[in-house]
Amino acid sequence: MKVLANDGISAAGQKRLEEAGFEVDTTTVAQEQLGKYIKENNVSALLVRSATKVRQDLMDELNGQLKLIGRGGVGMDNIDVEYARGKGIHVINTPAASSRSVAELVFAHLFGMVRYLFDSNQKMPLEGDTQFKVLKKNYAAGIELKGKTIGIIGFGRIGREVARMAYGLGMNITVHDHNTEAVELEIPFADGQSLKTKIQPTDLKTVLNTSDFVTVHVSGAGKTVIGKKEIAMMKDQAGIVNTARGGVVNEVDLIAALEEGKLRYAALDVFENEPTPAMQVLMSPYTSLTPHIGAATLEAQDRIGEELADQIIELLK
Ligand code: NAD
Repeated sequence: MKVLANDGISAAGQKRLEEAGFEVDTTTVAQEQLGKYIKENNVSALLVRSATKVRQDLMDELNGQLKLIGRGGVGMDNIDVEYARGKGIHVINTPAASSRSVAELVFAHLFGMVRYLFDSNQKMPLEGDTQFKVLKKNYAAGIELKGKTIGIIGFGRIGREVARMAYGLGMNITVHDHNTEAVELEIPFADGQSLKTKIQPTDLKTVLNTSDFVTVHVSGAGKTVIGKKEIAMMKDQAGIVNTARGGVVNEVDLIAALEEGKLRYAALDVFENEPTPAMQVLMSPYTSLTPHIGAATLEAQDRIGEELADQIIELLK
């Protein structure tokens, strides 16, 4: 059976599929050639990331040939999922594979922000030899994360991974989620031991009122969770991290709050207007920025490939 990994697949995932007897084709076929290529090469499973679109017309053109569509990653905006399922095509993704990577990026931003690394990394090459003492003074009022409170909004896969790491750092944790049931969180350690703790979500206002840092991990695109009103409820000099989706934190309100001094820190991995974020956000001296790389680690890519392979083997073998 042939699998076309049109946007690529990790070596680990490819190996697992091949060992199970699948033939893996990693050619990147242009969108308009895709139907023809799949027919001519007798492909049964199509794997994509975010680049390749799998729309109704492609499925109609293939007329029952495709048995499975796999998305390496979380969002499936590029696939007409319901239409595919209606035609009896399996549609799978790998929602858990990148959670740890996104959570680690949250802490990369947090550690960097509280010691002004994002600013220091820009200024040291330019002024480090002439303004060393000035810069040293500018960055003298850093703080530790230990003992601070992190507010996690959206307590799913990534939110829970953030909580595990926060516990390890000695932070206090407060959580808000649509789902109000208590969550039993297991925190595993490298030596095989683990701890279990119960976390009770609370209301949004309490999280905003009490957190030194708020990190947003809600699902669902487009809906603003933090805007002017919510920022007003936050502690003065607090920080916000958004690695969820652009617009979940209103960028105009965020920049205004940083400029007014209400908030001290902000980190963004996702933007309202990707791939051309607003200049006002990019040029802000208060923001720690990354270009939507939350899931972009080698480990996550390996896990994505392996998770896809396992599901394909289970569904098509
Ligand atoms: P998940 O589905 O496991 O968890 C999301 C949680 O948010 C759920 O518990 C849900 O009940 C809760 N929720 C949804 N809307 C809410 C709201 N308005 N208020 C409170 N709670 C709400 O999702 P996940 O895998 O943890 O992913 C979280 C986010 O991270 C998604 O938006 C996803 O697109 C994003 N993400 C970003 C990257 C990146 O590269 N930066 C990578 C992977 C995922």
